[in-house]
Amino acid sequence: MKIASRLANVSESATLAIAAKAKAMKAQGIDVINFGVGEPDFDTPPAIKAACKAALDAGKTKYTPASGIPELKAAVCAWTKRLHNVDYSAKQCIITCGGKHALANAFLALVDPGDKVLIPAPYWVSYPEQVKLAGGVPVIVTATLADGFRLNPAALRAALKGVKIFVLNTPNNPGGFAYTTAETRAIADVLREFPDVIVFADEIYELLVYGGRKFVSLPAIAPELKDRTILFNGAAKTFSMTGWRIGWALGPVPVIEAMGAVQSQMTSNPTTMAQWATVEGLNNPPPEVEQMRAEFEIRGKLMADGLNAIPGVKCLSAEGAFYCFPDLSAHFGRTIDGQKITGSVSLAEALLEKAHVAVVPGEPFGADAHVRLSFACSRQQIQAGVERIAMLLK
Ligand SMILES: *Cc1c(COP(=O)(O)O)cnc(C)c1O
Repeated sequence: MKIASRLANVSESATLAIAAKAKAMKAQGIDVINFGVGEPDFDTPPAIKAACKAALDAGKTKYTPASGIPELKAAVCAWTKRLHNVDYSAKQCIITCGGKHALANAFLALVDPGDKVLIPAPYWVSYPEQVKLAGGVPVIVTATLADGFRLNPAALRAALKGVKIFVLNTPNNPGGFAYTTAETRAIADVLREFPDVIVFADEIYELLVYGGRKFVSLPAIAPELKDRTILFNGAAKTFSMTGWRIGWALGPVPVIEAMGAVQSQMTSNPTTMAQWATVEGLNNPPPEVEQMRAEFEIRGKLMADGLNAIPGVKCLSAEGAFYCFPDLSAHFGRTIDGQKITGSVSLAEALLEKAHVAVVPGEPFGADAHVRLSFACSRQQIQAGVERIAMLLK
């Protein structure tokens, strides 16, 4: 059977693939330490689960408006106002089946064949694949660990010529960095020189910042960019609700309406009771939200310090999200335990097969010198896993 040509260069999510392999090894009884998954290990807060149960009991089990219930749109707008002091109305808001779905809707709504989308590397694996599915052309501008993964304004300026959409993700997956207000302002200054460029700001890790950092949303810093910025967010990371599949986007009415048209033909509404549960989370943020952030902060430091103590491993201290993204290229070219290490993919294979530690190779994130480790797991797992990596690389 001939698969459609639009899928010719589209790959399966690498993060989900490694998670599946680690799970399969676990099922065989192998003690795998899993740094591969991109989701909090905490349970969803009880108050949010209770709101879901109440919605079920109240018979909220039918279709809702395709773009989401008005109560959740109102809660999203109020949350955004409270957190960032930026105003959006319900017409500027769409509720989606996760943040990933919001991004997919937006690329489909805005990208014509051949349109260029500028994505800074390291990047979240789904951006280039979604751009390609929409018929667009991903253009990559690379930031390096030496610069703390910060985009150089001059490099950004050079890369923005002829581009339709620019994707900004801070706090960042996989880089684990979070721009300061001044750094976001410097990016905004460059974007101001390109009035036709649409900005996709993926702020899904907005609450997960460390070391006393405060995350400031792009339209809060640069109100003059708000009319051409689309914000992407969701419940997955903030409320440990990855499986509930609730996300949202905020932006100009015509874009939100076009995304709504896509959604109404492809999925219809996000799951009804999950929407009601998210209303509760946003309107009455449970204490677990800050408790989880504080625990991630401790774990991030533990992991980064442990990795940096291994010879030939360089890692940024965790600033945001829940990932370490160390450079391990000093170990490329070696043969470890009979396996030749040629790049991040073979290194991740060796770590999984010989040390029973699951990490995600940096190659699909656009940074082959690196691997991604999630610290959304227990402190004991972090200590034991880092020790195993140190042993293997010795
Ligand atoms: C997790 C994540 C998302 C969205 O995840 P959903 O589970 O679809 O809500 C979006 N962007 C980044 C960078 C992420 O890490």
